Amino acid sequence: MSSEVRVRFAPSPTGYLHVGGARTALFNWLYARHTGGKFILRIEDTDRARHVDSAVAAILEGLRWLGLDWDEGPGAGTAGALEGSGDYGPYFQSERGAVYERYLSRLRDGGHVYEDPAGAVRFRLPRKPMEFDDLVCGHIAVDRSKTTTPTGEPESDMTIRRPDGSWIFHFVNVVDDAEMRITHVIRGEDHLSNTPKHIELYEALGIAPPQFAHIPLILNRDGSKMSKRDQGAHVSSYIEQGYQPEAVRNYLCLLGWSPKDDREKLPIEEVIRLFEPGKINRKAAHFDLEKCNWLNAQYLAAMSLDEFTQASIPWLEKAGIAYGNAAALSPVLALIKEKIKLIPEVTGWVDYFFTDAFEYNPEAVEKTLRKPGALERLVQLRGAYAQLSTWEATLLETQLKELAAQVGCKPAEYIHPARVAVSGRGVGPSLYHMLEVLGQQRVLARIDRTLAEFAG
Ligand code: GLU
Repeated sequence: MSSEVRVRFAPSPTGYLHVGGARTALFNWLYARHTGGKFILRIEDTDRARHVDSAVAAILEGLRWLGLDWDEGPGAGTAGALEGSGDYGPYFQSERGAVYERYLSRLRDGGHVYEDPAGAVRFRLPRKPMEFDDLVCGHIAVDRSKTTTPTGEPESDMTIRRPDGSWIFHFVNVVDDAEMRITHVIRGEDHLSNTPKHIELYEALGIAPPQFAHIPLILNRDGSKMSKRDQGAHVSSYIEQGYQPEAVRNYLCLLGWSPKDDREKLPIEEVIRLFEPGKINRKAAHFDLEKCNWLNAQYLAAMSLDEFTQASIPWLEKAGIAYGNAAALSPVLALIKEKIKLIPEVTGWVDYFFTDAFEYNPEAVEKTLRKPGALERLVQLRGAYAQLSTWEATLLETQLKELAAQVGCKPAEYIHPARVAVSGRGVGPSLYHMLEVLGQQRVLARIDRTLAEFAG
C-alpha cells in the first residue's frame, strides 16, 4: 500500500472564494507540499442549480492568485496540460455520475439502502455508538443510537439520492474521497458534525475512512462568525485592491497555525517545512485585516526596486499614467517606495511626475503660495537654481539653505512653495530628491508656470 498523502479542497461553487475556504485550501496544499503528496481540487456541484461557470471561475482565480496549484484532474497527462501547472482539472462532481452509481450498487448489494415511498434512496443508519480521532479536535465519541433531530425526533435514515436522481452531498463527498484515495480530510469545523455519518458510509462500503482534521472557524475581531459580507471576506477583494498574493497567503497561514515563535513574515518554503495538520490551533482564529495590511507592507518593503516597478506598472497603466518606460519610472518609485502600503497607492504619489499639467491642490495653494512673499521667494529660488550646472539633491539642498540664510528666513519658507510649485500638492517625497528626479528644466518650467498662474 502506498503511503502517499492525498488531500483535497472540495468547494461548492457559491460564486466567490471566501477567506475561510482559501485557508482550508491552503492548509491542504501545505500538507501536500510538506509530504510530497498530492493536492486535488474537486468542485462539489451536485446541486446543479448552483453550477455557474463564473462561480467556478472565481474559485480557480483565487487559488491561482494565491499560488495554490493542484496536482490532478481530468486532462492531466494530455497534450497541453502541464504537470504541476494547474492547467487541468479540477474534478467536477456533476461529471462523475457513473462513479456514484457504482458505489450505490455496492451499498445496495450490502443491504444498506432502500427506496422510500417518495422514491428517494435512503441509507440505513447503523444507530450505534461511534468514535474517531480528529487530528485537530481530538477524540470524538457520539452515541449514534440516540441521535435525534433538532426537534427531538429520532433521526431518520439519511437520503443519499433524491427522487429526481440528484445526489446528496454526504454520499458523493464520501464516495469521491474514497475513490480519489484521500488520506486526510482537512476541512472547516462546520463539517465536524457530519463526520459520524460519513464514517458510517465508509463502514458500509467496507472502506477504511481517511484521517480527519477539522479546522476551527474564522471569527471577526469582535468574536462574531465571519460571514461573506464582512470586509476582507472574499479573496477577490484582495486581488482587486492590489494586495501582494504572497502577503495574503502568509496572512492566511497564520489564521490558526503558527511557527511557535514570534515570526510572522515567513517564506512559504519555511511554512511548508513546518506545517502539519496536528499543529493547527484548536481555538478559533480571529481575522485581523490590519495585520494582513501590515504584512503586505512588509512584503513591499522587501521587494527590490525592479520588482516594485514591475508590480506597479499594471496599476499605472490602469490609471492612464504615461510613465514612459520602466527606466523612467524606477527613479520616481524609489522616492516613494517606503511610503506605500498597497501597490495601487503609487498612482496617487507619482501622477504629477509624468504630466506638467497637474492640478494645484487648493488647500496647499492657500497655505503656501498665498502667503505674503511666497512668490518672490520662488523667483529667488528659480534664479539660484537656474545658475546650477550640476543638478543633484545635496547641492539643491545647500543652495536653498544658503539662499534662506542670506535673506534671513527659515528654509521652510522656500521648501513649501517649491513643493507646491513643482507638484501641485503640500505633501510628497523628500523635496530635494524629487527635484533631482524631475530634472532642472522641468523644475524651472514648473516654477514659471506657477508664477504665471498665481501672480497678480
Ligand atoms: N463542499 C463542501 C463545502 O464546501 C466540502 C466539505 C468537505 O471538505 O468535505 O463545505
